[in-house]
Amino acid sequence: MKHYLENNPWRIVENGFHREYNEITESLMSLGNGRMGQRGNFEEKFTGKTLQGNYVAGVYYPDKTRVGWWKNGYPEYFAKVLNAANWIGIDIDIEYESLDLNHCDVRDFHRELNMEEGYLERSFVAVLKSGKELRVNAKRFCSIVDDEAGAIRYAITPLNFDAKITITPYLDGAIRNRDANYDETFWDEVRKETAYGEAYIEMRTRKTGFHVATGMCVAIEQDGQRVDYQSQPIKYEKYVANRISLDCRQGQETAIFKYAVNLSSLNYDPDTIIQDAHKYIQRITRKGFDKMLFEQKQAWVDKWKTNDIVIDGDVEAQQGIRFNIFQLNQTYTGEDERLNIGPKGFTGEKYGGSTYWDTEAYCLPFYLATADQKVAKNLLVYRYKQLGKAIENAQKLGFTNGAALYPMVTMNGEECHNEWEITFEEIHRNGAIAYAIYDYVRYTGDEQYLVEYGLEVLLAISRFWSQRVNWSKEKQQYVMLGVTGPNEYENNVNNNWYTNYIAAWTLRYTLEAIDKVKDLNADRYIELVDRLQIRPDELTLAEQIIEKIHLPYDEDKAVFLQQEGFLDKDLMPVWDIPEGQRPINQNWSWDRILRSCFIKQADVLQGLYFFEDEFDTDTLRRNFDFYEPMTVHESSLSPCVHSIQASKLGMKEKAYEMYLRTARLDLDDYNNDTEDGCHITSMAGTWLAVVKGFGGMRVEKNQLVLNPYCPEHWQALSFKIRFRGAMLQVTTTQQDVTVANASATPITLLVHGQSVTVAGNSQQTIAAVAQSV
Ligand code: BGC
Repeated sequence: MKHYLENNPWRIVENGFHREYNEITESLMSLGNGRMGQRGNFEEKFTGKTLQGNYVAGVYYPDKTRVGWWKNGYPEYFAKVLNAANWIGIDIDIEYESLDLNHCDVRDFHRELNMEEGYLERSFVAVLKSGKELRVNAKRFCSIVDDEAGAIRYAITPLNFDAKITITPYLDGAIRNRDANYDETFWDEVRKETAYGEAYIEMRTRKTGFHVATGMCVAIEQDGQRVDYQSQPIKYEKYVANRISLDCRQGQETAIFKYAVNLSSLNYDPDTIIQDAHKYIQRITRKGFDKMLFEQKQAWVDKWKTNDIVIDGDVEAQQGIRFNIFQLNQTYTGEDERLNIGPKGFTGEKYGGSTYWDTEAYCLPFYLATADQKVAKNLLVYRYKQLGKAIENAQKLGFTNGAALYPMVTMNGEECHNEWEITFEEIHRNGAIAYAIYDYVRYTGDEQYLVEYGLEVLLAISRFWSQRVNWSKEKQQYVMLGVTGPNEYENNVNNNWYTNYIAAWTLRYTLEAIDKVKDLNADRYIELVDRLQIRPDELTLAEQIIEKIHLPYDEDKAVFLQQEGFLDKDLMPVWDIPEGQRPINQNWSWDRILRSCFIKQADVLQGLYFFEDEFDTDTLRRNFDFYEPMTVHESSLSPCVHSIQASKLGMKEKAYEMYLRTARLDLDDYNNDTEDGCHITSMAGTWLAVVKGFGGMRVEKNQLVLNPYCPEHWQALSFKIRFRGAMLQVTTTQQDVTVANASATPITLLVHGQSVTVAGNSQQTIAAVAQSV
């Protein structure tokens, strides 16, 4: 745990330069706008500890798979998010010295990420070896209004000298991924151009052939007046710059404005991409830094109007939740259905920037409740469009009849993961994709989605499950052998309760969806039956599997068994793990982990979270009491599920403990790995812990249900959600709950079991109830 950042409700603030933590701070202070993003690196040269990171959404490289022993069915490559051209760089040279915070004294260092208005700011005084003192004030943002552009204002002021200062704004395409399997270079240069104050570089990815054109335009002001400067174009391989020399007087501020764009061939024709970059640059340069920043601030203020969570009485918790919401909004905006949410977003290279089950299992509810419906829908359509690839993926593994196995990790629908116990066995991900369709329809009421897209996906996933189970003569039940559940600390187990349950549930929901589509659109139903060859015998088989699926259960303890034989383990709580041996994944051999009872992340409890309506509270309590003590939460996705369930069970302290662990996971570097990037997908889990946990938000029978409480040492908790046209702010104090409706759409909802109607643009206050448990 690290506590070097200031607690502040709206900002992430570093006072004083913490060199040793620089890579952590760079992750935390990442900027993004859904299309491009970048770590909180310095503009000027820095030879100290740093992980440079600039990313362009959807642009990846198929890095040849590396495994110890090849197994049939392994994917050929792992799709890596690419570290792309550096567009922020501005080198500063004062006579014979370079500005480099690694080689000078640094005074009054201050760096802050302003989450309210969406920009990054930094100021410091550098004392060079020669004794020259230079003040720097830098501000930059990735625009969410012009979402392929960024802008920087970088101001320098000599404090005790006059000198000719050389300023070199540049674009550097000679970038390598730290995370590369064979140390290969992923980019080739296509062309570069310079003009007065402008420069462009076009790079192409090897193998995938994506083109990315990065452009810049530089304007300079001294004492607030525009300066016509002389610039010398510099071109090296994969590098282009404008070198500018200016006389700078003591006390005089020189402000460098750098406007930049990153256009990719996902959206532009490679033949004209440089011209398009040029037009884009001209447009934003005309707009100017101040106007762009003004629009940026407005756009963020608007986002917060529908997204904010306010915690009264706990700045740490407040900062944590806002940081999570901010990063989620920077990562995915839902503008483009080809994009998705990588577990590290635009904050690092790890996890390849690819799509995992995290999107459906954790992120979807956040976007459902805080953004326009099309945003969540696009997340679903993304998988719909990859259905063909999921069917091919299943075919490669021997499945037939249009069965689909969605990948564990993907960029374009193809599987990238290459550990057999995950690629072939962690098949529960298929269930989460089916569940997300259910979750979307339940929340929005958009049953047409099933007609247009949903049923096809459900059917293909169900066909996979029907073939993946087999009939056990001994048990006289259907079993599923050789799987890995969500708890990756168990591999190749038989009858993982969660996987078996979600498989049978998918079959059940698919049968319901078939009936629904038949009711809603008979023609479409006939077309689908015909095209997808839906046969009565496969529906009968589905019914048999639903009825006879094996769900391991222990009668004595009255708990579901994570898998067959779980009780043979030496069961012990996590507090019996000797001091200094946690996290166990960094201290124990894999063999020891596999044989232990310790659970990486919610598994049975994940199922009880998804399907809570199908189990009573006593069942949840027994399973929670049994599994929670054995859970080490070594996946960032885990504590949120436990937090929600603890809230439901009235275990407020546990709920709060688990909440804090997810909310400040990156800010406090809880798992010692934030330097690689932030845990973006688990940030949605934090939101869930607040809204579904403390807020008790559910949708039941087409109605919004709230059971909110305010954790004991908070004065008030307030969150915003959209539901079917209504825009609600729910505020809960220790005394009461207020539901304010900022839309014209009236809503009737259940608050603590009481039916409450909130007319458009009005509010209702209901007394809080003491939780019975
Ligand atoms: C978790 C997976 C998750 C992945 C990416 C792993 O550590 O066990 O459930 O999908 O991280 O976040």
